[in-house]
Amino acid sequence: MDSPIPDYLEQILSNVWDDTDGEVADYIPELAETDPSYLGAALCTTTGHLYSTGDCTVPFSIQSISKPFVYALALEEYGLDKVREIVGMEPSGEAFNELSLNRYDNRPVNPMINAGAIAVTQLINGVDSSVEDRVECIRAYFSQMAGRELRIVESVCESELGSTDRNYSLAHMLRNYDIISDEAHDAVATYVNQCAIEVTTEDLAVMAATLANGGKQPVTREKILSTQVCRQTLAVMSSAGMYDGAGRWMAAVGIPAKSGVSGGLIGCLPGQLGVATYSPRLNEEGNSVRGVRAFELLSNDMGLHLMSTEDRYNVHSIRNVEDTADATVIHLQGVLNFNAAESILYQLADYEWDRRRVVLDVSRVTETNRMGWKMMKEGLRRLREAGKDIAVVDPDDNLTNRTLSDGTEVPVRDEDPAEN
Ligand code: GLU
Repeated sequence: MDSPIPDYLEQILSNVWDDTDGEVADYIPELAETDPSYLGAALCTTTGHLYSTGDCTVPFSIQSISKPFVYALALEEYGLDKVREIVGMEPSGEAFNELSLNRYDNRPVNPMINAGAIAVTQLINGVDSSVEDRVECIRAYFSQMAGRELRIVESVCESELGSTDRNYSLAHMLRNYDIISDEAHDAVATYVNQCAIEVTTEDLAVMAATLANGGKQPVTREKILSTQVCRQTLAVMSSAGMYDGAGRWMAAVGIPAKSGVSGGLIGCLPGQLGVATYSPRLNEEGNSVRGVRAFELLSNDMGLHLMSTEDRYNVHSIRNVEDTADATVIHLQGVLNFNAAESILYQLADYEWDRRRVVLDVSRVTETNRMGWKMMKEGLRRLREAGKDIAVVDPDDNLTNRTLSDGTEVPVRDEDPAEN
């Protein structure tokens, strides 16, 4: 059976195909000469399945979509405190290349505007790194994220360097306030190289899925970034990833995202998937016109909006409660997070316990988070305090920590208790 997902993506694209609004970026010939009709989309799940359609293998320069990835690398190398010394995390509400710094401490307000991106880039590979080594470090890391060797498009670099006075002025300003120590021309050279790394829509979907997957590349399974770094990066993308259209984007689409001047656009749905689109014509904010529309359709249709209260399915966490000869067995199922634990404990609070033993069967629990399990353990401890013998059934050894708040361990019961 062929998967219906590429056909679904194609349907989404066919809805936006006719839209010829917007203009291709024309500040360098390499972008100005791009075929404006290119249209591609790709989706990569955190389980590593990649689906794509349209012009999804056409190469283009990554441009500003490089910014969240380099920010993540800097966080990985230095930690949040150090990175926060040179760049903030507030949305700027200004254009991406605005000559603006925070008025209190002169730091760029976030890493998604050029001033912030240039400052962050200077951290990569150590502050004393040469431009060549720093660029190579970024290229190699982007290649790991994409799962294939990426290259830098020299012609894009050269053109950018010839028309990037505004970025030079940003770098001089950053030097003036001791945010960077590199020569302004070197700082911009690194940044321009990073923007000229060549990707396809498929590459971007996989790279986005890596951020959505807590830093583990879902196809190669390589762990590249920590989960905390990804969370921080996605948080900043959600408030500042879409230039000065970030607020409207979050309201309409509701997915952490980043766009670039070449027409690429990525969205990361934490724990679920990375999506990328490519269509070179841009709106006034610099975001791809058809990309934004495709994302709006995808988000509404697939129920991807992070702030939506629709499509949040909660399975009943208690599958059933069964009284066997010597024990009351509580069979759980699904995800055991705080919400699930709350509902389980709420339901069990008034239970008439006829048996002396209480057994918690987690063999059908698919995922356990720290807080959910902590609450459940405390519930078990209180049952023991009330005179019950407690135990868990955990045939797959999913419960890594069985220590209760009083220092004792919940015993494991070996046999599978009979079930209705
Ligand atoms: N190279 C571009 C610049 O910094 C990237 C801009 C963008 O993609 O928004 O001017």
